[in-house]
Amino acid sequence: MRNAWLTVADMARTYHIWTIGCQMNEADSRHLSSQLETLGYHNGTAAEEADLVVLNTCVVRQQAEDKAANQLHRLRQVKARRPDMTIALMGCMVGMREAPGLKKRFPFVDVFMPPSETGPLLDYLAERGAYDADRSFDTREKALRDALQDEEFTLPAGLRGQSVTANVPVVLGCSHACSFCVIPYRRGAERSKPPEAILEEVRRLAAQGVREVMLLGQIVDRYGTDLDNGIDLAGLLRRVAAVPELLRVRFLTSHPNWMSDRLIDTVADTPKICPHIEIPVQAGNDTVLERMRRGYTVDDYRRVVDNIRARLPDAAIHTDIIVGFCGETEAQFMDTYRLAEEMQWDKIHLAKYSVRPKTVAARSLADDVTPEEKERRRKLLDDRQTALLTAKNKRFQGQTVEVLVEQRYKGRWRGRTPESKLVFFDDDREWAGQLVPVTITQTAPYTLNGTIAAHP
Ligand code: SAH
Repeated sequence: MRNAWLTVADMARTYHIWTIGCQMNEADSRHLSSQLETLGYHNGTAAEEADLVVLNTCVVRQQAEDKAANQLHRLRQVKARRPDMTIALMGCMVGMREAPGLKKRFPFVDVFMPPSETGPLLDYLAERGAYDADRSFDTREKALRDALQDEEFTLPAGLRGQSVTANVPVVLGCSHACSFCVIPYRRGAERSKPPEAILEEVRRLAAQGVREVMLLGQIVDRYGTDLDNGIDLAGLLRRVAAVPELLRVRFLTSHPNWMSDRLIDTVADTPKICPHIEIPVQAGNDTVLERMRRGYTVDDYRRVVDNIRARLPDAAIHTDIIVGFCGETEAQFMDTYRLAEEMQWDKIHLAKYSVRPKTVAARSLADDVTPEEKERRRKLLDDRQTALLTAKNKRFQGQTVEVLVEQRYKGRWRGRTPESKLVFFDDDREWAGQLVPVTITQTAPYTLNGTIAAHP
């Protein structure tokens, strides 16, 4: 009951967080949830009934932005009936310096918060007496900060002992400025979090049942380049892997120019670090890559992948690809299409190019591939990927793989192999959070099915 005085005023207050977009947003929402619960807010109410509704938004593509706008439209009607409710808008739709015109467009929104920054909402609630109003503002402020420091990195109540995996941001922002990408404009310049804070967060998550963490950054391999203590991603991964309760560690996203031998060797010789590399190519043609300002050629990318496979023969390599970027010809797209066959990626995250405000591409290149053509290219590549993975996954038939079980899904247990292959199996016992050997009896392009091999 340490924080009882904080909660009295809020016994009945409820919150609802709607999250869309990347793993970074999921982590931001988790942080915010645990902070709100420290202040006495309770989760589990529909947006229509909650006292506080937070929309954590994404704008990486127009489609994501449209979804957030639809939610906002819905909330405007809810607020018309319940003017006492608080509506907060968070994430990339807001950006580091509130995107111009947002307040005018959405006057019913009470608070705007940049990505990863919960301060504006906490201050807003503090000003409205979300806790002990008798104290002076300074004391309240300090007490709030103290309480949050204790709880900030924990899971929200509903996930404690339930979440097997968690995302942990280690590099915030991005300074690369690929011509298509809005992230640097919305998440600000690249900055690494201090290793102590990351380890503290991981230890707390592990103490609450988390068994696998994914360290996040837009170019996660650049971790530490802006710190003056000599740490790099390889060093951080080793320290995180040493947390006793943790069974697995992953990291995402890598950039071809920053993937070091030291990092690959660290993955190879640290059993808890999964041999799973997310390394976006974006396009398989040098002219397109140059227009995207990615900073490498297709041959550079090939060399990086060859190096990973030489040192980590069983690694799963995932990639991101954008089709229909400005000026992409049929022949240039076909280069990307053929690269899929050559690379044998374990997963391709496919996107159709979508113009993003302020980016170099939006300012200087024409979005000249028609929507129909973008969809045709996406589908072609997607069908190719399905065929390639159907063939590639057959090698698992009859093999026994190690699965970290996450949760029940439609009555079956669901988990992942170290290479991040999704595995399902049936069993009546409780397996969440445990490593289980599963013999694969049936393979498909995006999932494997099996039975428990032995009882550990
Ligand atoms: N930092 C990562 C990307 C993060 S954004 C990197 O190294 O590239 C996740 C993915 O969204 C990108 O890899 C890209 O494939 C896609 N994406 C980003 N901007 C986009 C846009 N304007 N249109 C379509 N897809 C986009």
